[in-house]
Amino acid sequence: MVSYKEIGLVNTREMFDKAVKGGYAIPAFNFNNMEQLQAIIMAAAELKSPVILQISKGARNYANAILLRYMAEGAVQFAKSLGWENPQIVLHLDHGDSFELCKDCVDKGFSSVMIDGSALPYDENVALTKKVVEYAHKYDVTVEAELGVLAGVEDEVSAEESHYTRPEEVIDFTSKTGCDSLAISIGTSHGAYKFKPEQCTRDPKTGRLVPPPLAFDVLHEIEKKLPGFPIVLHGSSSVPQEYVDTINSFGGRLPDAVGIPEEQLREASKSAVCKINIDSDSRLAMTAAVRQYLSEHPDAFDPRKYLGPAREEMKKLYMHKITDVLGSDGKAE
Ligand SMILES: [Zn+2]
Repeated sequence: MVSYKEIGLVNTREMFDKAVKGGYAIPAFNFNNMEQLQAIIMAAAELKSPVILQISKGARNYANAILLRYMAEGAVQFAKSLGWENPQIVLHLDHGDSFELCKDCVDKGFSSVMIDGSALPYDENVALTKKVVEYAHKYDVTVEAELGVLAGVEDEVSAEESHYTRPEEVIDFTSKTGCDSLAISIGTSHGAYKFKPEQCTRDPKTGRLVPPPLAFDVLHEIEKKLPGFPIVLHGSSSVPQEYVDTINSFGGRLPDAVGIPEEQLREASKSAVCKINIDSDSRLAMTAAVRQYLSEHPDAFDPRKYLGPAREEMKKLYMHKITDVLGSDGKAE
């Protein structure tokens, strides 16, 4: 048993409380490798932004769960070495799918876990979430739950059919389970292909897809039912078209990749939405930088030569999200 407090991490409770009251959102960035983690920490430390490091089941399978956990511990020390005296860093399990997995993370030093029972019948989601909350709260670990189903594919999470969260269920669900935050479905989606062309309109000038707007009416109804309760948005990458263009012009093929417009996420950040998950954008930044570097330097074979620019590009992206979209800069001085 390792307590996250011993390794300098924090849970989400105070951070979310301040974010809801302050009208901003905390970035939750996924990581599977060193360069990504370095870029996240450099951006957060430079801007003094609280940050959530997320590990998905896919990341655990790819990079090894123990190694990732120690990398997060190293990240706290790295942040301090960059001059961030009191780093506000959460280590969070993304899309936990069983009690056993959540328990394992609590026992190994995570400060927050998500139990995703959203694909289960309502009563089973309640029972599973409650069981995780009871265990996690013994160790002051916070728990994110989910109601409603998002479309798209994220590591091992995928759904063909999405449906919005039903506002009439949220009071019953949060009071029965005791969860600390709630992921809802209002039209965001996992991956770099968030919408099918037939769900979108096309900008006649650029030929690019314009996605349907998020269901802010559902969000506002949920906020009315649960005043001040922390709400989470998954699948909130914006799929920057300059990265898609760079990837496509250097040998990639990502036709019609489309995400959530940043102005809608900016609006959501001002509401009870206090955690916004961004993964695909960082993957795109990394891929664009690597493709461009290798095309322009066919003689390069030292991974540091192409992963270095990729890390720079990801850092730029994270800083942009923190200051221009979520507004969390300067909130963890
Ligand atoms: Zn997700």
